[in-house]
Amino acid sequence: MKHIAILGSTGSIGTQTLNVVRRHPDLFQVEVLVAGSNAELLRQQALEFNPNIVVISDRQKYSELNEALSHSDIKVFCGTEAACDAVEMPQVDIVVAAIVGFAGLQPTLRAIKAGKTIALANKETMVVAGAIVTAEAKAHHAAILPVDSEHSAIFQVLQGEQHNRIDKILLTASGGPFFGRSRQQIEHVSLDEVLHHPNWKMGRKVTIDSASLMNKGLEVIEARWLFDVEVDRIDVLVHPQSIVHSMVQFEDGSIKAQIGTATMETPIQYALSYPYRIESHLPRFSFWDHPELTFFKPDTETFHALALAYDAIRRGGNMPCVMNAANEVAVQQFIDGKIPFLAISDVVEEAMAKASFIANPTLDDLFQTDLETRNKTQK
Ligand code: NDP
Repeated sequence: MKHIAILGSTGSIGTQTLNVVRRHPDLFQVEVLVAGSNAELLRQQALEFNPNIVVISDRQKYSELNEALSHSDIKVFCGTEAACDAVEMPQVDIVVAAIVGFAGLQPTLRAIKAGKTIALANKETMVVAGAIVTAEAKAHHAAILPVDSEHSAIFQVLQGEQHNRIDKILLTASGGPFFGRSRQQIEHVSLDEVLHHPNWKMGRKVTIDSASLMNKGLEVIEARWLFDVEVDRIDVLVHPQSIVHSMVQFEDGSIKAQIGTATMETPIQYALSYPYRIESHLPRFSFWDHPELTFFKPDTETFHALALAYDAIRRGGNMPCVMNAANEVAVQQFIDGKIPFLAISDVVEEAMAKASFIANPTLDDLFQTDLETRNKTQK
């Protein structure tokens, strides 16, 4: 029995993690559920999974949640510090890091420092502070198991290859809803069109990042840190079917791929059950339904965010943090109807051009960089 804490239990990854737990009650027990502001869903999850602790970030929702769970034994807390304390509890084995954005960094890092195994979905944590996060994980013997489907694919492909050098990581991208279109053709796209992803049903932020290819840029940086590979060894391939979840080429030229249907429950389950594979009733992939798998070079002129991410990680230091903060603000501005879709990458580019560079940032520097970039970008 593994005891699990879920950071971001009310989101797309969080709810799918609970689907996995629901199917394997003999293997997984929920100890902690953490959410942002969706008190009603958190209440329902708490009553179904009976965790030790639930934490809601939004202070205004605390009394409502506390009242709703007052007849149970479940302890209710609020705020980031409470989430950090909860993941450190000795009975927690695995922390599923599935808060969206920079907000996920602090509790994930606290879990790492407590030596917990991390099932990492929150890619922004690695993008912003990859050097610090990987060093802390090493120091505290905390395993970081990827949940992102591409990184899970690479991780699966690398099983048994620990003595073999990676020649190239071939990171696949669906291309999002606007694959094949020119800048002119997507100049006036609406929020609804951007949120209509062809293959994956995900939270809003990651869906918008997928449409701009910023998501793939964030994943390039995530892969650089997770697998300790120089960024020039990471290539992106647009693969509209999302069946090949990523590949690794080794020194002898052999390429290994991980293939399957596009569902996040498989990589989530693998991170939870690792090193074992456990039964799954999800639909099986059939080659007869997908006789054609295609691959294309990404168009970084139209989807400039991918080029910006390569630039940010090559420059290093606090630049990926600047890029991430500017992107989070710009995505919100797009959701609020204040800027058009294509302006997201323009805003990020300008923020990176105007940022003060720090070559070897401490964690405090990164929090400061995040705050400053958000303030400047808002203006
Ligand atoms: P969602 O927007 O669906 O969910 C985000 C979760 O984070 C919600 O539970 C939300 O709570 C919670 N949250 C937000 N802010 C805070 C906060 N300050 N404190 C505590 N909880 C907070 O996102 P996704 O599940 O789609 O994505 C989560 C992460 O996983 C992202 O980093 C994304 O890039 C990554 N990922 C997602 C994939 C997917 O298929 N969805 C695939 C691969 C990676 P509430 O709703 O209650 O406010």
